[in-house]
Amino acid sequence: MRWSQTFTPTLRDDPAEAEFPSHRLLVRAGYIRQLTAGHYSLLPLAVRVRAKVIQIIRDEMTRIGAQEMLLPTMHPAEIWRRSGRWDLVGPEMFRLKDRRGADIALGMTHEEIFATLATELSSYKQVPQLWYQFQTKFRDEPRPKGGLMRVREFTMKDSYSFDITEEGLDASFDRHKEAYERIFARLGIPAIPVEASSGFMGGRDSTEFMCPAEVGEDLVVHSPCGYAANIEKATSRLPESGDGPGMAAPVPFDTPGVRTIEDLATGYDAPGDRQIKTLVHMIDDRLTLVLLRGDHPLNEQKLIDATGAVDLRPAHPDEIREALGALPGSLGAVGVTGLPILADEALRGRRDMFTGANTDDVHLRGVDVERDIAVGTWADLREVAAGEPCVRCGEPLLVQKAVEVGHIFKLGDRYSRAMGAEVLDPDGKRIPLIMGSYGIGVERAMAAIVEVHHDDKGIVWPVSVAPFQVTVVIAQPEVAEAAEEIYAALLAAGFDAAIDDRAERAGVKFRDAELTGIPYRVTVGKRGLAEGTVEITDRATGETVKVAPAEVVAHIK
Ligand code: ATP
Ligand code: MG
Ligand code: MG
Ligand code: MG
Repeated sequence: MRWSQTFTPTLRDDPAEAEFPSHRLLVRAGYIRQLTAGHYSLLPLAVRVRAKVIQIIRDEMTRIGAQEMLLPTMHPAEIWRRSGRWDLVGPEMFRLKDRRGADIALGMTHEEIFATLATELSSYKQVPQLWYQFQTKFRDEPRPKGGLMRVREFTMKDSYSFDITEEGLDASFDRHKEAYERIFARLGIPAIPVEASSGFMGGRDSTEFMCPAEVGEDLVVHSPCGYAANIEKATSRLPESGDGPGMAAPVPFDTPGVRTIEDLATGYDAPGDRQIKTLVHMIDDRLTLVLLRGDHPLNEQKLIDATGAVDLRPAHPDEIREALGALPGSLGAVGVTGLPILADEALRGRRDMFTGANTDDVHLRGVDVERDIAVGTWADLREVAAGEPCVRCGEPLLVQKAVEVGHIFKLGDRYSRAMGAEVLDPDGKRIPLIMGSYGIGVERAMAAIVEVHHDDKGIVWPVSVAPFQVTVVIAQPEVAEAAEEIYAALLAAGFDAAIDDRAERAGVKFRDAELTGIPYRVTVGKRGLAEGTVEITDRATGETVKVAPAEVVAHIK
């Protein structure tokens, strides 16, 4: 690449609207431009990084035997109706009508569509099948974040496994888990696998891959003994009985598999209010309060209408106080999910709403409603919970903000049943396929990498994903020829190389090389050449070495 010809509009100053590092740096370094909230154009350097991220993921998917496909983005509503999710998913799904008036969904995930293809499998002999794609997902996020972290259209690597036994599913899940660990290691993302609840996907187990970062919207709880869960999971199960000082007696919310509001969607098989009612009755008729995070995939209004629950979504603290005052004494079905919404003293005295306990693995004793919910922001919760002993090993718990970079689910047969994806088992009996689904957001991974790898001068890409491994800087016009020779030698040796041949001062070129995060800079200058050397600067360490022009290729790994 010749800098003189590329479109990489770097900015001298930080963009005013950017709040956090990856947003600020990707805009400033000329990687992305916003079209409108949640929609970004990727410029040439970003496209190169994205391609490298995709190739790493593809390599690792190939390694576990997965087959790449490409499915449509627009789906007939009918398919989503069959699984029940046309009604279950709320405004997060983009919906449109074609010229004949038919309802269409813009794909936000592809369980239904892959399960439809799987109807062509016929025998147990064909499983396991692992299928994947890189494809645009559309989600009408209520609060898109600046930059690539949370957008309304993004590329997801989504894969789906098809097995006939739970053991088969476990094996497919484990293969993905290992693949994800290798992927994130190669991307330079220090992701922690954590236990999570599976939310509107339904199903048994799920593991999120969380990259610790201050800008993260999730909170993970982990301990040195290997326990790791997201905060909702860690605090979601109620104790059998009052547990520890300050803990309230449990509210009846112990239906297996139903743990938080997130899990209300689990078990839905068909659309409509009736199911919502049934499910809620299944939990307990004491469900009187619904706390939902703004971006919750449930159709909130339906849930609220069906249960007569108090809707606290738009509430002002005074309204919350009033609503709570009007409620009967015992409350059920409230998860820590709602915590930030209720960051108010309104909850004082209502400790029965939150128990903050999971007698299973971990126990956040520190989360005492009386004392803490009044301040209940994520940061406060973190402070309160951090340092509590983990029930499993007694070691102190660490609580960190994190970005969800990947998520893997054991789905079971919910979608295959809905779509009729069945095969013959060894006894000739028709059985539904058992599915798993697995996702990584490609552009969010790029943002997470920048969150982890940057300094005050700009981005510091790991070599594995850098748009160029090396850039050659022509410090003065007189050395252009020598620099071109080095550039040609780097290209011939197979490097992704660039040459900064712009009519700019050396200082400008250095600044852009640093800002854009290219791992190695080769500076060709008059004085060095006179002594028979050029400089190689390592972006990550800032160290510079002098080598002979002919040694450059050998020197850069
Ligand atoms: P979040 O909790 O951040 O909203 P999610 O749980 O809704 O994410 P999944 O449905 O599990 O996301 O999708 C798999 C992956 O897709 C996520 O782990 C993340 O990497 C990516 N992803 C999800 N939503 C977005 C988004 N709005 N923008 C960019 N990437 C996203
Ligand atoms: Mg989401
Ligand atoms: Mg999530
Ligand atoms: Mg997820």
